[in-house]
Amino acid sequence: MSARFQVPRGTFDVLPAESAARARVFVAAANAFTRAGYARIETPVFEDTELFARGVGESTDIVQKEMFTFADQGGRELTLRPEATASICRAYVEHGMHKLPQPVKLWAWGPFFRHERPQAGRFRQFHQFDLEAIGTDSPLADAEAIILLDEILRELRVPDLRLRLGSLGSFDARAAYREELRAHLRANEDKLAGDVRERIDANPLRAFDSDHEGTREVMAAAPTMLDRLEGDDAEHFDAVKRLLDGAGVAYELDGTLVRGLDYYTRTVFEFESDALGAQSALGGGGRYDGLVEELGGPPTPAVGWAAGIERILLALGEAPPPEPIDVFIVAPDGQRERALELATTARRAGVCVDLDLADRSHKGQMKQADRSGAQRAVILGEDGSATLRHMETGEQRELDLADIEGEIERERAEDSS
Ligand code: AMP
Repeated sequence: MSARFQVPRGTFDVLPAESAARARVFVAAANAFTRAGYARIETPVFEDTELFARGVGESTDIVQKEMFTFADQGGRELTLRPEATASICRAYVEHGMHKLPQPVKLWAWGPFFRHERPQAGRFRQFHQFDLEAIGTDSPLADAEAIILLDEILRELRVPDLRLRLGSLGSFDARAAYREELRAHLRANEDKLAGDVRERIDANPLRAFDSDHEGTREVMAAAPTMLDRLEGDDAEHFDAVKRLLDGAGVAYELDGTLVRGLDYYTRTVFEFESDALGAQSALGGGGRYDGLVEELGGPPTPAVGWAAGIERILLALGEAPPPEPIDVFIVAPDGQRERALELATTARRAGVCVDLDLADRSHKGQMKQADRSGAQRAVILGEDGSATLRHMETGEQRELDLADIEGEIERERAEDSS
């Protein structure tokens, strides 16, 4: 019989065998955020379409062709969130967080949606964890943000890590540079890809992201914003580099790094892994000093990043096997209810216990105990007796069921001595 339904294109189920690896990523990230004083925020998975049009930028690929947009029954234009920063800044403004001590340090975790062409490492529903430090222009915040992502990726042992670092300067400085870049693009217009040519006015920086051969040649000779940094922008960038050097975080300077979203100013960065193929970006971000104001708040400098959970898992390779349980309880017909009672008592005491819930034979239950990976089985007898069996050695002994937690604790202590 063929399956009647399948997951929508570009989405996937997270099956139990994969969930332990994801949980490991969550714990590493959550612990790193908590250690550094970041608090968790959760926002809705859909928002007013206008928030993303404004916050991400009208001329970006995301807004032009990748958003899942729909009208609700009340005729409101809504969009499944393609990224986190606009929503978090909306929440910052809506809840008056500018009145709190600054910066407000936040992190988030959840699903995001982009209508992209699915391929290895690229999905239409994917997951990110995300950090934002809102309300400071100090280079300390840029460095802290980058150091934390580096720390999480290292703790997870993501192989072949690389950090690309650049600066786009402040808005005003970039305006002058953009004009220079436009002139360079116009002078080479005949060699450019069609979509790049069309965006010379709206978003000339995006030409750096093109895969088109002619465009790449033109961009190799283009001036970069990094060559034009001066004054406060240059000082800010020097401070970020110095702080990363001090923390032992290695980086490659890259003037072609512009990132896909419109709102970046000054610092931009991206972590990559050579263990990934074409989709090598693990996570990245930068400073966005104008976004909160753009969304109706007071002028508020900020910095943040997002990392892709599926990309990290891909770079890590084979998922580790799930944690085995401590004990599997095997019970004959007459002792099944007692088995559940015992399991409940032991679970309340913190022991990981499983048991048969499908009336299997003794042999079937022993097989299940074996498959569960449990170190030990508790085998109940018809007469109410209990035997503890070490699954690997086959050693058995009588067990005092009145003290099942104590018995398991002593066994564990023996294991580790
Ligand atoms: P971005 O907001 O585009 O910088 O994305 C941040 C990170 O999210 C990227 O570095 C990827 O790891 C991940 N990511 C972005 N888009 C996708 C996608 N369509 N599928 C899977 N991961 C993605």
